[in-house]
Amino acid sequence: MSTIKLAIVGVGKIVYDQHVPAIAGNANFTLLATASRNNTIDGVASFPTIEAMLAAHPEIEAVSLCMPPQYRYKAAYAALSAGKHVLMEKPPGATLSEVSDLKRLAAEKGVTLFATWHSRHAPAVPVMKAFLAEYAPRKVTINWKEDVRQWHPNQDWIWQPGGLGVFDPGINALSIMTEILPRAVFLRAAELSFPENREAPIAADLHFTNADGLPVEAQFDWRQTGKQSWDIIVETDKGELRMADGGAKLSIDGVAQELPPEAEYPSLYSHFADLIQNGKSDVDLSPLRQIADAFMLGKRQVVEAFHD
Ligand code: NAP
Repeated sequence: MSTIKLAIVGVGKIVYDQHVPAIAGNANFTLLATASRNNTIDGVASFPTIEAMLAAHPEIEAVSLCMPPQYRYKAAYAALSAGKHVLMEKPPGATLSEVSDLKRLAAEKGVTLFATWHSRHAPAVPVMKAFLAEYAPRKVTINWKEDVRQWHPNQDWIWQPGGLGVFDPGINALSIMTEILPRAVFLRAAELSFPENREAPIAADLHFTNADGLPVEAQFDWRQTGKQSWDIIVETDKGELRMADGGAKLSIDGVAQELPPEAEYPSLYSHFADLIQNGKSDVDLSPLRQIADAFMLGKRQVVEAFHD
């Protein structure tokens, strides 16, 4: 396959940390340009808007959209309308309906739309999925707790409507949950804690189940200080799966499993290249739907104000 001419829109933390090295390490892609209001990547042509970038470089074939989710639809619409393949950071948008509309547009234009869930590419995830396909889960406990000051400094968008608050990292856990469990789970109850001065939750307790009555308890909290907890524990008749570090580590009944090194973003870009090559899209809305359900069904409590 010839190299895919790629552009990035919305240059910020995740682009510098993950996208740039993953693209540099993938021979299927050449990074041609960026569109971002303030930030640039050394040695890459930069433009203030996606429209200016696509006009100057009509040869661009694919774009990665890495701005906050509230601003993604407009850019995705512009790129898909221009016949470009599109990769979207998680969460794929601000609402379920807008992402469904993008899926329709991609199909209409005959281009690839990839709504990424990077945590699904963590090394423990396929191992857990295969194990749970064979041995039924009996109980699932999810702890996704981190220090918001450490992981999201100066990110105002994350506290605004559509920014999702603690669900921004929590959706990573839900993307794993929806991938590894053999039967669909659904929310039964939730408590969301909103700081009195913010428009998004700082913590959430979620109680899911499935048709078999499986208990799935999830706790998300941004008020944790010190080391983060990104853990999923699944009890089965054949032992306990204990996933840690967001899927980089796994033990089964206390025995550490040998896993390949973490390579979530390189795996995302390999999958994007495969999708383009095979004329397919990959848009799974199930993690975002669980969060929409939490906002719909969850009880709200107002908690202490949060200051940066
Ligand atoms: P970020 O650095 O705060 O934002 C990315 C860039 O988006 C900003 O540098 C900014 O670039 C642009 N942007 C910000 N507000 C905008 C607006 N109102 N309109 C248009 N563009 C705007 O965020 P991030 O941490 O990279 O996260 C971006 C996405 O990646 C989010 O969906 C997040 O959930 C996901 N993600 C983040 C991480 C992480 O560890 N940070 C991990 C995985 C996934 P300009 O000012 O140059 O326009």
